[in-house]
Amino acid sequence: MKVACPNCKSKVDSKDIKNINKKGIFIKKQCPSCCEWFGLNKAQEVLKTAGILLLLITSLLNIFSIKSEHSLVFSTVGFVGIIIAIIITFFSKHETVK
Ligand SMILES: [Zn+2]
Repeated sequence: MKVACPNCKSKVDSKDIKNINKKGIFIKKQCPSCCEWFGLNKAQEVLKTAGILLLLITSLLNIFSIKSEHSLVFSTVGFVGIIIAIIITFFSKHETVK
C-alpha cells in the first residue's frame, strides 16, 4: 500500500517505512525521503478504532447469544462499524505529526 507523505508529497511504499512509533492507538510513521513524521489525524484514528471495537463487541454478543432478541441490531451496528473503519483506512489523509 502506498501512502502520500503530507510534507514532501512523495509516494511512499509502506514497506519502505522503517521507523514506526506507536503511542497507544496512535501510530506515527517516518517518511524515508524527508524524515518527517506523519500519521492519521487523531479523530480518524479514534473513529477507526471505535468502528473495529463495535464490530468486535457486537460479534461477541451475537456469538454468545447475549440479548439475542437484539441480534439484528447488533449485526447492523457491527457492519456499520467495520464500514467506517474500512473507509477511514482507505480514504483518510495523513498529516504531519510534530
Ligand atoms: Zn516526506
